[in-house]
Amino acid sequence: MRPPQDSKRGRGLDGRLNMGKIEKGITCSVSGCRSPGERSISRSQLAGSGLAAGGEGRRVYLCHDHYKAWKKSTKKDRDAERARWG
Ligand SMILES: [Zn+2]
Repeated sequence: MRPPQDSKRGRGLDGRLNMGKIEKGITCSVSGCRSPGERSISRSQLAGSGLAAGGEGRRVYLCHDHYKAWKKSTKKDRDAERARWG
């Protein structure tokens, strides 16, 4: 006996459907920042962005500003290929 549809369920990968939505009352994980957290990403995603998150756990929470900063830092690699400045 095997359950009808089981293999399509998420298996704990980082790409979760509701990624980005977080509970209320959570503050930004970046050290020194006390703004309310708006987005959550995995700690490994934060690596290499130049942001340092305190606390523990696999997920880190970013406030609006730090999320933007993180986005920007992850985008840099791709933008470098375009090089459309000037
Ligand atoms: Zn922050």
